[in-house]
Amino acid sequence: MKEEEIRPRKVFDEYLRLAAEDAEIYFGNTKRSPLPCPACGETGKHAFDKHGFSYEECPACQTLFVSPRPPAEDFFRYYKESASARYFGTTFYRETAEARREKLWRPKAAMIRDVLLGRGAAGHHVIDIGGGYGIFAEEYQHIAGGEVTVIEPGPDSAQVCRNKGLRVVERFLEMVEDSSLPSGPRAFVSFELFEHLHDSRVFLERLRSHMRPGDLFLFTTLSGMGVDIQALWENSNSVSLQHLNFFNPRSVRILVESFGMSVVKIATPGMLDVDILCRSRDAIKDRFWRNFIAQATPEMLNAWQSFVASQGFSSHMFVVCECPGSMSP
Ligand SMILES: [Zn+2]
Repeated sequence: MKEEEIRPRKVFDEYLRLAAEDAEIYFGNTKRSPLPCPACGETGKHAFDKHGFSYEECPACQTLFVSPRPPAEDFFRYYKESASARYFGTTFYRETAEARREKLWRPKAAMIRDVLLGRGAAGHHVIDIGGGYGIFAEEYQHIAGGEVTVIEPGPDSAQVCRNKGLRVVERFLEMVEDSSLPSGPRAFVSFELFEHLHDSRVFLERLRSHMRPGDLFLFTTLSGMGVDIQALWENSNSVSLQHLNFFNPRSVRILVESFGMSVVKIATPGMLDVDILCRSRDAIKDRFWRNFIAQATPEMLNAWQSFVASQGFSSHMFVVCECPGSMSP
């Protein structure tokens, strides 16, 4: 897979341009509060500034995170009103929808089905937190059967899901009542949501309150230890307005275990890191990667991508965790 297929340069560049403007418009004068590492609680060290935001790196677990951080209300307003959020939800989404369905959502649905099958949990009811337009839900129902519930706070997206016949809870997870979720064993999933969370600890606390022994939580998020983010650092396009937390395989384990969940699997099955580096070669800070990209053949690039992913150093991270204890009969 190539980055161009899911993020065409022209459309993506326009989104990044709008996002840089919105960072000033929506957060230029806002009051900010410092926060400790969202994974382990250590005090972070300043890493760099970008678009008026300060990023810190945790010296203990290498989590990269925005601190000090504007209040949550500012982000709600940004997501509701801003030009870049609207552009992402309309033009960017429209231009890439079919490619993303095929290249991203279908494989994700297969990945989730395989993990559930492997754990004897094929009968768990899948609940997609932040399910957007319901494409994962459609693909999952198509290949695995069973019904998926979508938790989606955006009224437009929620309506799109209802029009597709999906079961929708139109709320932020933080406000969902347990009685509105299906009873029986549950597998919660969330995709590319964690990096956006204003307070990942509040989110996990709430999620944990809905989980019973044997329930699963499977999610994908950006890893800040991914080779493209490490080599590009503040020049990485992943480091943009909406992304506040970059956990990594080590720190995400600390995070979920601190909520009493047991880690079943942490992997980085990404396919794009080396391609992203090729596309952004002039912005790479590290000399090895800059010169390697200049000389490598396509076969070498593929081999390195596979190696990076297998060793846990792709920026696309997949985490499976379970609520411990014996299942109720
Ligand atoms: Zn930390």
